[in-house]
Amino acid sequence: MKSCVIGIDFGKTNMRFAVAEDKPELKYYIKRPYTRGTPEVMNQQIFDGIDAALKESGYDPRSVLGIGIDVPAVVNRETGAILWGPDWSFLEGASLTKPLEARYGVPVVADVDTVMATWGECWAGAGTACKRFAVLTWGTGLGAGVVIDGEAQEYPNNLFPEFGHSRVSDDERPCKCGARGCVDTMVCGGGIAEYGREAVAAGKETVLRDLCGNDPSRVTSPMVFEAAEAGDAIAHAILERVAVLIGRLCGNIVLTMQPEKIVIVGGLTERCGWVLDTINRTMTENCWLLFKGLTTCEVVASGLGDTAGVLGAIYKVRRMIGKK
Ligand SMILES: [Zn+2]
Repeated sequence: MKSCVIGIDFGKTNMRFAVAEDKPELKYYIKRPYTRGTPEVMNQQIFDGIDAALKESGYDPRSVLGIGIDVPAVVNRETGAILWGPDWSFLEGASLTKPLEARYGVPVVADVDTVMATWGECWAGAGTACKRFAVLTWGTGLGAGVVIDGEAQEYPNNLFPEFGHSRVSDDERPCKCGARGCVDTMVCGGGIAEYGREAVAAGKETVLRDLCGNDPSRVTSPMVFEAAEAGDAIAHAILERVAVLIGRLCGNIVLTMQPEKIVIVGGLTERCGWVLDTINRTMTENCWLLFKGLTTCEVVASGLGDTAGVLGAIYKVRRMIGKK
């Protein structure tokens, strides 16, 4: 009987279930929608997903060595309790790990999505070629991770790197964290849509006007990407500005930790891979260690797609039970 580890990754509306053995190679992977509800409702959906994953992948429930869970919230690493998360207040205080430990009788670990994605890169992505790198998760927010000597860094008080809330311009835009001008609030989905709305409201010549039916409030970030891909100069300028801000942030990351690489993970990376040149150029222009040739760093897109979280959740469990 081959032993396996189960990884679970919660997104906004879907949860992903994956099974792997001792290599970073998924033997099973599926995405299922979930409904938000009480801890009991959530636990039942997790149980159903695990049971289905074992049945469909053909692994015996007795072969499971552990379970890892990636969540979009800060988690108490000791108790598995949800501490806080912008969209996860409905589960605050509930432990996701304890009910699973009781039902399956194996170690269960939960952590925030950025930490899990960083462990995923350690095991299956950039970490296969370098031991010192940074991770940016780029989507509805800008999360971060730091890897030193092949280990994702987990900080005290259940925290983790927060590069996304550093300031790289004079913009006064309020951020969801409570501060102003954070790079997170300007380069992610909501910020990109906001720049699009402002362009339409200011009467700029852009196809965004047609896409939103001349109603600025209806501009979304996919519309900005669509317009840029169709050659719209205003939309293109919005995304170039986003790339410059990320490039400045990457320059700061190099000054802070001198990584060999900065890996960008997440949905927007696939949509916006063409901005990598601008990000790399801006990073170098803003970091004397790079433009004087004292160190090197390259910003690259992750090759893991949306599996970084489950791979990291599985790897974190494997390390916990002494099986790297
Ligand atoms: Zn912030």
